[in-house]
Formats: sequence, structure tokens, C-alpha cells
Amino acid sequence: MTRIEMYVDHFPDYIFYGIEVEHNLYYGEVNKINGKVIIYINILQPEWRQIDTIVHEAGHAEFNMYGDEKRWSMKTMLAEKQAEYVCRHFNL
Ligand SMILES: [Zn+2]
Repeated sequence: MTRIEMYVDHFPDYIFYGIEVEHNLYYGEVNKINGKVIIYINILQPEWRQIDTIVHEAGHAEFNMYGDEKRWSMKTMLAEKQAEYVCRHFNL
């Protein structure tokens, strides 16, 4: 099992998709569709970044804190702060 798989396995309730996006600032995203959490990870990023993204996006889902489509809205910024907090304090 790879390190990435270990992190994915830690969140069995969420559906993870590895996608290839050739943009070095695209890491991934989370969507909630019909109550199901779907997390996309850009697998072209280095391993540490993918792991960071898994925990960050799962952090959004764990606290049910999602941004809206506006990058700098209060809702988005609060959701990002929360996800960053989860990411910094997460230990497998
Ligand atoms: Zn985020």
C-alpha cells in the first residue's frame, strides 16, 4: 500500500478520484453531490502535495465547511481556514 492509499483509506466514507490536470497550481477539490462527498486529487502533483490535498479536502467534508464559487467570499475564506487547520493538525 502506498502512503497515498493509506491516507485515502483513512476516509472510507468519501469517494476519491485521481485526475490528471496539467496545471501546477491545481491540487484538487471536494464536491458534495446528493449527500455523497467526492474528492478529486490531481495525481500529477508530488506525493506530499497529494497527501496534503487529501487531508485538506477531507477536512472540508469532516466539518461540512465548503466554500462557494467566490474565491474571496467570507464563506470560502472561513472554509479554507478550517480545512487548513485540519490539515496542519492531522496525524495518520
Ligand atoms: Zn480548500
